[in-house]
Amino acid sequence: MIRSTVKKFVEQEILPFVEEWEEKGSFPRELYKKAGDAGILGIYYPEEYGGTGGDLFMKIAATEELMRCGSAGVVAGLGSLDISIPPILALGTEEQKRRFVPAVLRGEKISALGVTEPDAGSDVANIKTRAVRKGHQYVVNGSKTYITSGCRANQLTTAVRTAGEGHRGISLLIIESDSRGYSVSKPLKKMGWWASDTGQIFFDDCLVPAENLLGQEGRGFYGIMENFQNERLQISVIANMTAQLALEESLKYAQERTAFGRPIVGFQVIRHKLADMATLVEASREFTYRVAAKINAGINQVKEISMAKNFACIVSDKVTYDAVQIHGGAGYMREYLVERLYRDNRILSIGGGTQEIMKEIIAKQMLQ
Ligand SMILES: Cc1cc2nc3c(=O)[nH]c(=O)nc-3n(C[C@H](O)[C@H](O)[C@H](O)COP(=O)(O)OP(=O)(O)OC[C@H]3O[C@@H](n4cnc5c(N)ncnc54)[C@H](O)[C@@H]3O)c2cc1C
Repeated sequence: MIRSTVKKFVEQEILPFVEEWEEKGSFPRELYKKAGDAGILGIYYPEEYGGTGGDLFMKIAATEELMRCGSAGVVAGLGSLDISIPPILALGTEEQKRRFVPAVLRGEKISALGVTEPDAGSDVANIKTRAVRKGHQYVVNGSKTYITSGCRANQLTTAVRTAGEGHRGISLLIIESDSRGYSVSKPLKKMGWWASDTGQIFFDDCLVPAENLLGQEGRGFYGIMENFQNERLQISVIANMTAQLALEESLKYAQERTAFGRPIVGFQVIRHKLADMATLVEASREFTYRVAAKINAGINQVKEISMAKNFACIVSDKVTYDAVQIHGGAGYMREYLVERLYRDNRILSIGGGTQEIMKEIIAKQMLQ
């Protein structure tokens, strides 16, 4: 049911316009509302806070179907709630959940996650944005960068420094974009994910009510690390779908395109490339599903989800490269989907923790 609802939504509300949004570098804000009304944004989130309910596999099914629009930028933009709402549900008070979750799941407000700063990406424990408590407010100074939905988000789940250096000095604050001292850059120009808005956010003596603190002061780092597990699973699913679409496009093209008097699929080298691509996609998807099933069952998968993300990205790197190769010159042209898949894919082994950081996590877990 979830698959058919999302498929219909993609066919009616995204596919007819997606090329235009990609070229324009943004999709209309109303798409959030439409996805909210269709119950798509709420999948996996509790009904008591306006969600649609469902487990992790329903979320995966929805993401897979959304990816069939061919624009990971649209999926990432709509999906910025998936990295910014879970910490509110995990750490927030009842009042915070009621204030900050339902409007986002209805698509009336946009929510984003602000961790990365100009001088701290992988090194989260080194963030500099400072929040100083003064009476009933925090005064926040600093900036965030590369934030998905950053330019038009109404609320930002933000990592701030409330105490001394290191990870114990980090807290999470929900900062509303209409707060005094909050401003945003123009959308940043990117290699891929063109339809998503990626921005910089500045806090200049920005005033935030103290009741917007998520959980306890100094515990934010743990909340961020926990949240990364969701993001890494989502990125694995996006990478697998990027590879799946690239494979499907290549299968079609290889049967249509002729060279030396026969379809190029008649050349064994092309057929073997397709066979290798299909094998990699299948193996990666099954591994991701297996890890997701264990997460769903409450089993710790910190090491395995890092492996799944890295493996899915190695696969999508290889498969999108080969897909462009099979398309020849056409693969370099904007009118062919593989051109976008190739560009959009590049961020996946960087965002949500780089490939190198994933390996550090895997090694640390193995050497415990
Ligand atoms: C399109 C896009 C969307 C994004 N969306 C968001 C968002 O919504 N919210 C958000 O908070 N952030 C977001 N990010 C930021 C993203 O999470 C960071 O870019 C990523 O974590 C890497 O950080 P960095 O860019 O500072 O790279 P750096 O940390 O500077 O890394 C540079 C290189 O050094 C390597 N390196 C660093 N430390 C180590 C180490 N210990 N061992 C080995 N190698 C190391 C890295 O692997 C990398 O190869 C987004 C980024 C992009 C491009």
